[in-house]
Amino acid sequence: RSFEDYQLSNEITRALALLKYEAPTEVQSEVIPRALDKQDLIVKSQTGSGKTAAFGIPLCEMIDWAGDNPQALILTPTRELAVQVGEDVAAIGRVKGIKTMAVYGKESFVQQQEELERKTHIIVGTPGRVRDHIDKKTVIVDDIKYLIIDEADEMLSMGFAAQVEAIIEKLPTTRVTMIFSATWPTTVENLCNKYMADPITIHI
Ligand code: AMP
Repeated sequence: RSFEDYQLSNEITRALALLKYEAPTEVQSEVIPRALDKQDLIVKSQTGSGKTAAFGIPLCEMIDWAGDNPQALILTPTRELAVQVGEDVAAIGRVKGIKTMAVYGKESFVQQQEELERKTHIIVGTPGRVRDHIDKKTVIVDDIKYLIIDEADEMLSMGFAAQVEAIIEKLPTTRVTMIFSATWPTTVENLCNKYMADPITIHI
């Protein structure tokens, strides 16, 4: 397994070298080529497997730097995870000049709004605050091409199902959707059945 297999751009290759990621982990070798092929993916894997980079690498590769509106939305169940994922994805996209922003509750909406007025390629956030920004049009979803739901089982067990569905309903239907989950309760299965097109299931 080698990152060279994916013919990544110079910028992303350089970022991986700076991060000292020498070879893809198992989940990365399963996810990266399929995501680059724009397939919907259901990924059953644990934290610590390198799953953040598994979606972060193809996202940063596929995002068009020139676009003005956000192109990718990553939903996480908690603020802590939003911050962590935001930092990890930002590190992958930095050399390419990709801007990632984490939005979550209990932080000033207005401050987030001001930062969102500057070009942002990737939004990472918790469902409640992301929905607020979409409803108030401080996040424009017209150009969202990639939706990632991280820790979907946690998200739904915390009672975010209605929020998540309300967000998905507002997104363009032509998009790539990837759902990551450690366990597979029927609630997660239902979400997949409802919002994914011929997904491939990857079990690590
Ligand atoms: P995660 O499962 O996304 O929480 O990642 C676990 C840890 O593995 C993080 O600290 C990553 O920075 C690190 N990591 C992810 N991918 C690689 C890789 N290909 N090589 C080395 N470390 C990695």
